[in-house]
Amino acid sequence: MTEEKVVKSSELDHHFRYEISEKVGAKTLLKCIQCGVCSSGCTVSEFIDLQPHRVVASLLLGLKDVVLSSNAIWTCSLCHRCTERCPKNVDYSFILALLRNMAVEEGNAPKEYTVTVNTLYDSGFVVPYTGRMKETIDRRRERLELPQIVPPNMDDIRFIIEKTNLGDLIKNKNNEEEE
Ligand code: SF4
Ligand code: SF4
Repeated sequence: MTEEKVVKSSELDHHFRYEISEKVGAKTLLKCIQCGVCSSGCTVSEFIDLQPHRVVASLLLGLKDVVLSSNAIWTCSLCHRCTERCPKNVDYSFILALLRNMAVEEGNAPKEYTVTVNTLYDSGFVVPYTGRMKETIDRRRERLELPQIVPPNMDDIRFIIEKTNLGDLIKNKNNEEEE
């Protein structure tokens, strides 16, 4: 559960709901009636610190920091059930994807994501394919009569990472290391 804390009105971002709504268009969160249907069907509800309808309420209230630092935006499996069931057509799963991008821009991405993206950037693989790990993988593939792993094209991988928001994760990690 999220620790309860008092938020002063001066800490609220009243423009945040409009910033998100402009990007979501017709499926805006401004139509939310707080019915809770999104939360009742959420496939990861037992693992998140803020239920979907509470995330929407927090966004409407301007609790930007609370939302961007919650695990709810990262634990979502993007199954889209909330969006499909919403009686007011709020595109909650798309809103979550936006929130993830915003959290990354603010340096708020979980370490697991940063580490994975950096491993990918450094080696072209999402798990380290070196040393003992490489030997084990190669041995198993041979036993299963699978072809050898083709080395990834690092130029392509780095180009994609640098040209997308994933590049911000790299920058954030580099900044952490310099501090
Ligand atoms: S289902 Fe839709 S209207 Fe109901 S609380 Fe969730 S976002 Fe709001
Ligand atoms: S898209 Fe995310 S928030 Fe919506 S129901 Fe699925 S897991 Fe829950």
